[in-house]
Amino acid sequence: MPQKEMRIIPKPPADAIVLTPEAGKLALEGKGGDTYRCGACKTRLMDNVSHMDVFHGEPFDAVKCPKCGKFNGLPEDDHHHH
Ligand SMILES: [Zn+2]
Repeated sequence: MPQKEMRIIPKPPADAIVLTPEAGKLALEGKGGDTYRCGACKTRLMDNVSHMDVFHGEPFDAVKCPKCGKFNGLPEDDHHHH
């Protein structure tokens, strides 16, 4: 089950789509095998997600970590498939 660390990004612009899960909740959960964690505090932000869930599901620009409040973008490496 791959664990991927997201990267901390500056606060996105107001029109960006930011997922803001509540404390203890996941931003996204699916039936894949990947776990994405906050790049700062390692909190799990997305669990059991697949590439399809993350990159080809509902689009979003960032996930705001409910624990440390930092904005996480998707890791660069995963932007190559299309
Ligand atoms: Zn965090």
